[in-house]
Amino acid sequence: MKNKFLSAIGTIVLIATFFQSGAQNYDTVKIITHKITEKIFTLEGDGGNIGVLTGNDGTIIIDDQFAPLSEKIKTALKALNDKPVRFVINTHFHGDHSGGNENFGKDGAVIIAQDNSRSRMTTEQFIAAFNSRTPAAPYDALPKVTFTESVTLHLNGETLQVMHVSNAHTDGDAIIFFKESNVIHTGDVYVRYGLPFIDQPHGGSIDGMIKGTDQIIALANDVTKIIPGHGAIATKKDLIEYRAMLQTLRERIAGAMSKGKTLTEIIASAPTKEYPAVFDRSVFITLVYDSLKK
Ligand SMILES: [Zn+2]
Repeated sequence: MKNKFLSAIGTIVLIATFFQSGAQNYDTVKIITHKITEKIFTLEGDGGNIGVLTGNDGTIIIDDQFAPLSEKIKTALKALNDKPVRFVINTHFHGDHSGGNENFGKDGAVIIAQDNSRSRMTTEQFIAAFNSRTPAAPYDALPKVTFTESVTLHLNGETLQVMHVSNAHTDGDAIIFFKESNVIHTGDVYVRYGLPFIDQPHGGSIDGMIKGTDQIIALANDVTKIIPGHGAIATKKDLIEYRAMLQTLRERIAGAMSKGKTLTEIIASAPTKEYPAVFDRSVFITLVYDSLKK
């Protein structure tokens, strides 16, 4: 779990950053703040990108990385605005996006997530593809507000539309549209490390990823700033390229399946070879295969 991979986009990604890993040394992690607009920022550390909205109503964050980073994250947030964190919106249940929930929940922040993400958090989470096990979340870490399709927050002069994307990266994904500022946080429906992880055993699917990407594209225009689950700020054009990659891979794998090819044969045919990957390609192919088999 400690191996480093260099993706084609030049970002060093640790496999451990996908999920909670006891082996990770968080002491060396630095939280870097990126300014997106006058009141919207992202925090880069270890784990998913944290989106931040600041203003007179207090701070709202989207995702909170791993628990051992909470103090550093709080320090970075204080430097932006002295007001407390009032809301934490989780894009999904994975530990690299919700691991800090307990620390923010104890401080009084209200955690918001899609219904399915909350129910995943109430039991042990095991991700076989990465042999990653996270115990059931303690009370303070659990979302106190959930939604099925969408919920809207009106804070700091911004309309924050939190929208469910069904069966994409997981079965509890949310994307967040900052309407006035024209900024979208995509969670892990869109990532920039190449082949995405599709958590098929927890409700993810290739078709949901494509549909979810279409939903984000439909919200965006040429000047929309897109915060991916992992990686640097993107544009609608980047998202269109990502969608094309997903569609190409879906067609290749579905095409081979319709010709009666076995999973082993499909893996051997290297359908993903021209795209960067930060984890074993056979994992990606298997997850797509399993989601198409259903
Ligand atoms: Zn994830």
